[in-house]
Amino acid sequence: MIKRTSFRVITFGCQMNKSRSEHLSYLLSRSGFVCASHPEEADILVFNTCAVREHAVERATNAINQMIRNIVSRRGSAPVVVICGCMSELLQEKLAQKIPLAKILVGTRGWEFIPALLQEASTREEKAFLFPKEEDPPFLETGYLRERRTFTYLPITYGCDNFCSYCVVPYVTGRQRSKPEALIIQEFQDVLENGFREVILLGQNVNSYGKDLEGRPTFEQLLKRIEGLFGREKIWVRFITSHPRDMRKSIVERVKESDTFCPYFHFPLQAGSDRILNLMNRGYTQRDYLEMADFIRNAFSDVGIGTDIIVGFPGETEEDFRETLKVVEKVQFDVAYTYVYSPRPFTAAYSLRDEVPQKVKEERLQILNNMLSRIHAQKMRKRVGTTVEALLEEEEGPYFLARTKSNLRIYVRKGEGVQPGERVKVKLQSLQGTRIIGEVTGNDI
Ligand code: SAH
Ligand code: SF4
Repeated sequence: MIKRTSFRVITFGCQMNKSRSEHLSYLLSRSGFVCASHPEEADILVFNTCAVREHAVERATNAINQMIRNIVSRRGSAPVVVICGCMSELLQEKLAQKIPLAKILVGTRGWEFIPALLQEASTREEKAFLFPKEEDPPFLETGYLRERRTFTYLPITYGCDNFCSYCVVPYVTGRQRSKPEALIIQEFQDVLENGFREVILLGQNVNSYGKDLEGRPTFEQLLKRIEGLFGREKIWVRFITSHPRDMRKSIVERVKESDTFCPYFHFPLQAGSDRILNLMNRGYTQRDYLEMADFIRNAFSDVGIGTDIIVGFPGETEEDFRETLKVVEKVQFDVAYTYVYSPRPFTAAYSLRDEVPQKVKEERLQILNNMLSRIHAQKMRKRVGTTVEALLEEEEGPYFLARTKSNLRIYVRKGEGVQPGERVKVKLQSLQGTRIIGEVTGNDI
């Protein structure tokens, strides 16, 4: 075994990947490797990758090669490079040509074998490939070397059964597997004992939690159990992502009844036109979406609605695109991630002609982003002068970065006796560009 060899895991992509990287760091440290504080100092570099858009794949490949080259030129020797995660699962052996210095290539399964592969890496000349294809085991992944101290992720499902026609996620992560409730409760306990103030439950579609488990427990039941056991603790619980097709009023009501759950719903629209939604295989109409968004807005005095939107899906006309803008204007999203459609191998839409010209896609993205920025600015202006509750997350210059219960990002002026991890009352006072700035008016609530 290599003695006290150091490693660093570098993550691309979504929160699920961030959380899985923490799990991988745990697996490596449990096997005797030490987590380096910076990639530059690590003997082993593990890249946990994303495949959701082609652009992400290209960017990641270039960034990885560049980073390895920089380290080699500074140190005169190469780190042991492991590539794992979605991009690796998608490209498999082909990735070895794109990243020539990669020594170990692993997909989205079989991560428990990575420490052993690393232990024998120094005695093996050739590259190691690990892409297990067997039936998906239950989702029992647990144990994390956590990066942050105030909030943390807790995955409750892995994989996805939805097969939206543009999306590669089900092909690279497999069928949905839910984590058994008992394990979630145990992890929750651990998070509390470690002093975290906020937990983010993760899944590609949290609303469908439990469909694959014996007895088919529902997401509402899981929330109820969490509330029953931990509702008296000073902890906030959020969850992402809520698929609009599986969004139920009973989930919104559960959030409303509790002080623990945060009124923020990440509820991806993807497109506003019924024709495109149908081609995307999303399983809801614009009307369904608007009704649920209305229900959510009316249920709370302060609620955040977040979304993801794709422009330029094959065949998207100007008229279709205007339907997307119409929904954006109506729902007044608080958070939005917007993307240009990217054809992905294996997906149903891959065989459709990607016919919206790149220039048109980019123009649409610009128009959409302008509208979202205008909505955001209006909302921020209205907020000035109000008082909110927020969790202080980390320091940034003279400010703490903080988030309200409804997921509004705010900047809080540093003051005497307050520190990250505290929940405080903040008076929002001014805008600095897109930032909203406030001052603490009440400590540790
Ligand atoms: N499970 C989540 C999303 C996971 S992928 C959900 O269903 O909402 C994150 C986001 O990437 C998606 O919501 C979608 O907006 C975007 N995305 C996925 N595939 C894409 C593609 N082929 N091109 C462009 N954007 C895509
Ligand atoms: Fe992809 Fe759709 Fe599953 Fe989200 S719900 S991960 S967009 S297939």
